[in-house]
Amino acid sequence: MPRTAAPTLNSPSPSPSPSRIPRAADPDRRRTSASVVLRSVLEHGPVARSTIARLTGLSPASVTDYCARFSELGLIREAAAPRRSNGVGRPHVPVDLDDSRFVVGGVHVAVPYTTVALLDLRGRVVARRELKHERTDPGAVLARAADGLGALLHEAPGCRPLGVGVAIGGWVDRESGTVVEHPLLGWRDVAVREIVGEHTGLPVHVDGHARALVNGERLFGLGRGSGSVLHLFVGNVVDAAFATNDEVHHGPRSQAGTIAHLPVPGGTERCDCGRIGCLQAELSERTLCRRAREAGITEGVNPLHVVAAAAGGDPKAVRLLVERARAIGRAVRLLLDVLNPETVVVTEVGIIHRADCLRALREGVGDERAVSVVPTSFPDSVLAVAGGSVALDVLYRDPLAASPEAI
Ligand SMILES: [Zn+2]
Repeated sequence: MPRTAAPTLNSPSPSPSPSRIPRAADPDRRRTSASVVLRSVLEHGPVARSTIARLTGLSPASVTDYCARFSELGLIREAAAPRRSNGVGRPHVPVDLDDSRFVVGGVHVAVPYTTVALLDLRGRVVARRELKHERTDPGAVLARAADGLGALLHEAPGCRPLGVGVAIGGWVDRESGTVVEHPLLGWRDVAVREIVGEHTGLPVHVDGHARALVNGERLFGLGRGSGSVLHLFVGNVVDAAFATNDEVHHGPRSQAGTIAHLPVPGGTERCDCGRIGCLQAELSERTLCRRAREAGITEGVNPLHVVAAAAGGDPKAVRLLVERARAIGRAVRLLLDVLNPETVVVTEVGIIHRADCLRALREGVGDERAVSVVPTSFPDSVLAVAGGSVALDVLYRDPLAASPEAI
């Protein structure tokens, strides 16, 4: 992968900045102010600086300084058609994200394949590729992912990478950038950040995929503006993540959201742990595909083939997907009782593609809270968005850590 002199997330070098942004007497406040200004541009742009000041409660002078800094960094630009110039600082000229310069790399490692992608600063997928696993040992999978990202960057000259986000199921410790355990892949204590960093020469951030997607929803999707968001991921891995007041709960060693062995009411599948009806055993795509094979619907292990059979009018496939969605709804109900989030986002293949599955999901929830349960905001690109969201969350939390050297 080419090593460019691009600015990077979390660059260690503080800048010799001409900005009037207050120096680091209160770094947390400075970081928070920078974050709310850039988030404001993301959510409302093109937007006048005076409006950002009103929305954020920061002083107009302070907003002007942060915007000047972001312009230097290449993160924002003045919108093409300024309404009116108003002297120094020009607070009425709208600013918008500059989505033409930078991308982040995203890697999502699933059980059968890895998705690599480039995302722009708005969380949109610029390019992506799926790499079917030839081997599942971590060294091979991660080296191939790095090569895949390198190829995407090579094909997109002009896109400069700020960093790489890696999203993966299982137990992921964000602080150390390590996959502690991923039983379905057979991974244990894999130093993902280190390995991908060595291969790409870029800063790498690693998180669990449910947490990655809750951040994607907060920043770019339906979770935007919601006080609390729960994301439930139902693939081969089943896990959850919860964000409140813009913070995703990790818990000690990032173990929050491990719900694979939560019992599903009415479950019948035997789990590896020895119990019957655990969430992951009951609802995983493996189980869906096995049931589809038993019913003579499909022969393979691809859940999209079950969706295709349902779309083609196979009533058994429809029933399988709808029953699964209803069971997911019952699981959501348990989580609603515990966490009471304003919004619940579910990523699951049937619910993404079929209105009857969404209806069944809400029936499974079974009360008025069902209306707060919605499908993923990224139906066509969820795995591509997951990896990139890990890196974009870092950018939007601490935008001034992006180094300006190359600008
Ligand atoms: Zn179990």
